Amino acid sequence: MFIPETLCLKIAKIWRCLVYCLAVLSPLITRLLMGYYSGRDPLREIGLSFGMVGFAIIMLQPLLSARFRWIERPFGLDRLLSFHRRTGLVAAVFLILHPVILAISIGSSRLLLSLNLPWPLTVAKVTLLLALLFSLAALFRRAFKLPFQIWLRAHSALTLLILTGVFVHSYQITIRFQAIPIRILWAALLVTGVSSYLYLNLFQRLGGRLNPLTVSRVSRETDNVWNLNLVPQEGRSIFRYKPGQFIFVTLLRGHGLPREEHPFTISSSPVDRSCLSITAKESGDFTSTLGSTKPGDRAAVMGPFGRFSYTLLPSCDKYVFIAGGIGITPFMSMLRDMYLLEIKKDILLIYGNRTENDIVFSAELREISESGSSPDLRIIHLLSRPEPSWTGEKGHLDIDRLRRYVGDVSGKSFYVCGPPSMMNSAESILRQMGVRGSDIHIEKFSL
Ligand SMILES: Cc1cc2nc3c(=O)[nH]c(=O)nc-3n(C[C@H](O)[C@H](O)[C@H](O)COP(=O)(O)OP(=O)(O)OC[C@H]3O[C@@H](n4cnc5c(N)ncnc54)[C@H](O)[C@@H]3O)c2cc1C
Repeated sequence: MFIPETLCLKIAKIWRCLVYCLAVLSPLITRLLMGYYSGRDPLREIGLSFGMVGFAIIMLQPLLSARFRWIERPFGLDRLLSFHRRTGLVAAVFLILHPVILAISIGSSRLLLSLNLPWPLTVAKVTLLLALLFSLAALFRRAFKLPFQIWLRAHSALTLLILTGVFVHSYQITIRFQAIPIRILWAALLVTGVSSYLYLNLFQRLGGRLNPLTVSRVSRETDNVWNLNLVPQEGRSIFRYKPGQFIFVTLLRGHGLPREEHPFTISSSPVDRSCLSITAKESGDFTSTLGSTKPGDRAAVMGPFGRFSYTLLPSCDKYVFIAGGIGITPFMSMLRDMYLLEIKKDILLIYGNRTENDIVFSAELREISESGSSPDLRIIHLLSRPEPSWTGEKGHLDIDRLRRYVGDVSGKSFYVCGPPSMMNSAESILRQMGVRGSDIHIEKFSL
């Protein structure tokens, strides 16, 4: 029996969501089945339930962020990480409400205010404080101007402390007095959290899933955009990926240059199995050192990840690509792929930049659109601060312009990638034009 790919994808998403919900509610379900809720103070039970659900969410957090392919594949890693951020905040709310409700149920504020408490309760307070700091940092990292790498390291260290804290507190206070199935469940959730954490931070980051590549060429695309070609070791070929997907890259360059892992879209086409390229804009501490990379420097690459690829919608023939600045990279990968494979698709690319000099891949885009072969590519360049000599489109994306270029929206798939403000406005304009949410695909350059 033929099952369409979109249906398979929906099923894959639904069953993963169901398993996740079951895991989060597993402490409550187990206690319910074992009769723990009958004849007890309902408010106290609600307070305990908040703590238990908070515990389960916290223990499952590393599972969501550990980059397991079988979990992220139907959603895309970027979406999964965004879900991970929101569930982290939900867990913090549950863990804060847990002692508040318990204090109300026993009619005393001692649980909340006293410093002279048994040690498992002190552990709980310290863990809660860490969880609060963690949530505040996650919410206001940009406002506090907290450098991303410092946040990442603190996140990694605090995760282990919080996992340990919530386990020790809950086990000592309640779980060790409960029936064996509940104790087994607690141990299983702890093992899931800690092993996922170790899988990401020790096994993967220390080489378990890293592809060793070598920089073969470093070239300038525009004043502040660099292109790096990476090749595999001799006799090996590049791993399989879909055009539009991204990878995590660690450049091992020496000379005191940063060795951090950063996500970049692959800008080349998978048709070329001998070389892969990334194209990055100088925007911060790491990317501003890209020009110092030398041919021969080594790179450790993890991936591919993401679902921003035309190949995942094989039956669609008409695409509208809306790109802003360096957000062109996934589109370049897809266009190169279509061009090399002569895939018959009708593509409208609307590409926004400040000035003509900022247009990345300008010559190659022109070459594809003027080649007369597939894909049938029409490009509209939109410049917000053009030179007086510019005769093309000026200004920003707006609904009149988009209506004029796109025409009838039915049967078309829309892909958007660029600065956050441009993506937000593109998405809301497309909605106003009657494009269904499922036809809008968005790639954010932040995780
Ligand atoms: C899926 C994806 C694809 C991307 N593709 C491209 C691309 O093709 N070309 C390009 O120029 N840029 C791309 N980026 C953005 C690129 O990763 C950031 O510009 C780069 O990491 C900034 O690092 P920095 O130290 O120079 O700047 P910083 O000022 O340190 O960081 C700027 C912002 O980049 C993000 N960032 C920084 N480091 C990391 C990290 N290690 N992991 C996750 N996010 C981080 C944070 O949101 C941070 O606030 C992509 C990002 C994502 C998530």
